[in-house]
Amino acid sequence: MSSKNKLSDKFEVKRSAPGAGLGLFTLVPFKKGDFVIEYTGDKIPTPQANKLSTRYLFEIDEKWTIDGSKRGNLARYINHSCDPNCETEIDEKDRIIIHAIKNIKAGDELGYDYGEEYFDQFLKDAGCRCKAKKHQGGPV
Ligand SMILES: [Zn+2]
Repeated sequence: MSSKNKLSDKFEVKRSAPGAGLGLFTLVPFKKGDFVIEYTGDKIPTPQANKLSTRYLFEIDEKWTIDGSKRGNLARYINHSCDPNCETEIDEKDRIIIHAIKNIKAGDELGYDYGEEYFDQFLKDAGCRCKAKKHQGGPV
């Protein structure tokens, strides 16, 4: 038995690129189109969510937002990527489903595009630190 306090057999939370904080890494491979993980949390009214200062909010629509700040929500560790290997989808029960849009190898970091609003609010000034090729000349 490992003494490591693992939250999951499938995923590992660890430091991403230097300065980028934690990221979510998969321990198993996924094929393009596979279900990867659900972004879980409390469903709260969006106007209420807009008053919270956590960045772990996932807006479903103008009525509902998922507050994903609970520790058990591993999907909250997934970083923004400009060249993502995952995509989010909201199903008919307002669940946030994350699935693979590329084949993903065990050990890879997971990422999806957070969208323009988040990018402008949290990433623009500091510069995006994802590993997308377009940043190789420096942050955008
Ligand atoms: Zn980027």
